[in-house]
Amino acid sequence: MSDTNGVINALTIDVEDYFQVSAFSRHVSRAEWDHLPCRIEQNIDILLGLLERQHTKATFFTLGWIAERYPTTVRRIVAAGHELASHGYSHRKATDQQPAQFLSDIRLAKTILEDISGVEVKGYRAPSFSVGPANRWAFDCIGKAGYRYSSSVYPIRHDHYGMPGAPRFPFESHPGLMEVPITTSRLLNTNLPAGGGGYFRLLPYALSRWLIRRVNHLDQKPAVFYFHPWELDPEQPRVSGISAKTRFRHYVNLKHTERRLRRLLTDFKWDRVDRVFLAQP
Ligand SMILES: [Zn+2]
Repeated sequence: MSDTNGVINALTIDVEDYFQVSAFSRHVSRAEWDHLPCRIEQNIDILLGLLERQHTKATFFTLGWIAERYPTTVRRIVAAGHELASHGYSHRKATDQQPAQFLSDIRLAKTILEDISGVEVKGYRAPSFSVGPANRWAFDCIGKAGYRYSSSVYPIRHDHYGMPGAPRFPFESHPGLMEVPITTSRLLNTNLPAGGGGYFRLLPYALSRWLIRRVNHLDQKPAVFYFHPWELDPEQPRVSGISAKTRFRHYVNLKHTERRLRRLLTDFKWDRVDRVFLAQP
């Protein structure tokens, strides 16, 4: 039984492989990416099957780097009725780039994804939600690159990302560009993360369900939830040399993600970001 107060939420997937996550960037160089065993094809297969069985469509924020190497996977995502969106080309955080560099990275990703898929790519998500008060110029670049929306802000406090003062619900970040933040639930003057990430794997599922219900019922708004294909893959090769904290965050409860996602997709209604938020998808 779904219990979403009639609200349809937005389900999003950041399409990158296990070795491309920002927390590993000091341990796995970009030169190594081409030589590591890639798990993206099989993990996207598992995910597409899961979404089909749950009759759910989602938005896939895909890296240009992945799309170039796995064009068939990109086309399968589109053929299954999901929205193809951009996660940039090289998975460099916006905060680690100059505006010109950032603009060319997100333009390149849009071109590659559109050439492969033949559909317009409307949405962009910055790696590690790396748009914040210090680099508002990034919104101008995202608009200039021709995107219609961005989902690059997580309005929480976190050691690696977050823009705690940002609006919790969609706002115009640049003329003609809508920012669709990851969902938080407001409790005791604090924004609690309710839109996925390590929290979804670390904490009991019932907490995620309670937080999303609060957003659907109290705020009467759609939630935006995200996860990665590698979070469904307990067999992924282990990256060595990382800190205990990073290891814990990346590997905790991987074997439970698929079951939890099935519950999440059953308990709430979900659709693509463009259909949930854009007036004219
Ligand atoms: Zn990412």
